[in-house]
Amino acid sequence: MSGIWPDDIRCVALITFDVDGITSWLNRNPDFINYPSLLSMAEYGPSVATPRILDMLDAQGIPGSFYIPGYVAETHPDLVREIAGRGHEVAHHGYIHEPPATMSPEKEEEVLIKGIGILGDLTGVAPVGYRSPSWELSPVSLDLLAKHNFHYDSSLMGDDAPYLVQGGDPPRDLVELPIHWLLDDAPHFAYAPSANRLGPMRNPDEVFESWAAEFRGIYRYGRCYNLTMHPQYIGRPGRLLMLERLIEYIKTFPGVRFMRAVDVADMWENGA
Ligand SMILES: [Zn+2]
Repeated sequence: MSGIWPDDIRCVALITFDVDGITSWLNRNPDFINYPSLLSMAEYGPSVATPRILDMLDAQGIPGSFYIPGYVAETHPDLVREIAGRGHEVAHHGYIHEPPATMSPEKEEEVLIKGIGILGDLTGVAPVGYRSPSWELSPVSLDLLAKHNFHYDSSLMGDDAPYLVQGGDPPRDLVELPIHWLLDDAPHFAYAPSANRLGPMRNPDEVFESWAAEFRGIYRYGRCYNLTMHPQYIGRPGRLLMLERLIEYIKTFPGVRFMRAVDVADMWENGA
């Protein structure tokens, strides 16, 4: 073992998807229920893009982690079962994409329990991974995650490798799998004028260069590459080819292990 990982692992790569569908838009503004064009763009994520992403991951032979709001799971039960059935991770992402920071502690726990029930019923196992909608935890989120038997959170930016955070009473450790806006597709691709999202709509080749540059740094320092994407953005055909090219590029580096987030968390908890 050299560096922070066991065996011959030089760095780990997490390929993750937040399958928000229409929930992130409806949470932003309930009036968007009257915007069928906007919602159709969002619905493309679970309906068209995610099956295509699953085929791409199969072709590449790598696992992914999928963070799914309860509402999306309820309206796409076969998709959730398919994701789990192909060996990927199904994890918690709110019910209708509620950022914890916007809820009372009581409401936050209610949403947490609701999502656990929906995903657990569909996959047969309660989720142990959590990523907060919009990446905004509340002051009590870690306590609630500990109370409800989660192993890890993926919503903080305090490092570029896993680290331990504490929650619950008495406090116990949870693994944090940190994220960063740089490694998110939304700042590069989110464009929806009616919702005042006027992102740069970047060329996929430019985004490839940004994500590949960050990978080279993560690899050099032996850390954790945690890429967050949304099927409604990254699943557009030209962008998906870019993601596939990025995965093939990462594979050319010896000692990289593609893993599900839950497996990285468990490895870390067991003293990586
Ligand atoms: Zn989301």
